[in-house]
Amino acid sequence: MSKKAQLEKIKAEIINSKVCKELADGCTQLVFGDGSAEAELVFIGEAPGKSEDEQGLPFVGTAGRFLNEMLAMIGLKRGDVYITNIVKYRPPANRDPYPDEKAAFLPFLRAQLEAIKPKIVVTLGRHSMECFLPGLQISKCHGQPKRIRLQVTGNRLQKKPTVTSLVILPLFHPAAALYNGGMRQTLIDDFMRIPAILRKLNQEAKIIKTLQGSDIAKR
Ligand code: URA
Repeated sequence: MSKKAQLEKIKAEIINSKVCKELADGCTQLVFGDGSAEAELVFIGEAPGKSEDEQGLPFVGTAGRFLNEMLAMIGLKRGDVYITNIVKYRPPANRDPYPDEKAAFLPFLRAQLEAIKPKIVVTLGRHSMECFLPGLQISKCHGQPKRIRLQVTGNRLQKKPTVTSLVILPLFHPAAALYNGGMRQTLIDDFMRIPAILRKLNQEAKIIKTLQGSDIAKR
């Protein structure tokens, strides 16, 4: 099954299994994700806001415009990356998502990552970071890539248990950084490091592939 088809299946599963029904009933529509299923970079925010709820797409309001600007700074467009949120329905009055809401959507977010297999998962803000790097402080670890092993036990979405290695890059949330001069520049500086991190990961992957195919590995 193609990556795109896998994503469609996950989207249908969220709707059919009525995840967070109360949130779903109180908003306009599901905001599943946007961009390329083949992306090397996945950006994960917190939850849709008003504009996202209206348009059914993540990061299309003020924070989204800032995200688009930063993507352009590193020569990318939205269609080159994949953008989503932990929680896929807008919480009432833009309140923070509750822990049980984040937990309910986590298996679907993991399934999205499992389908896309990105080189880097960029978490935007504390809520998103905590899903992958619990216990860390964003003020201390922003801009520093961390490799994690994501363990998924067999479930409805994924029959077999899997362990996936992921590189997480925690960044400040564009909405928080937008009107805070210092944080804004820090976010831009961290963002500008993405191409170099990506190049390094691709080089590492190439070396591993070469070694796997070499005589040393076959001995
Ligand atoms: N903030 C988020 O975390 N996600 C969006 O989609 C928009 C704003």
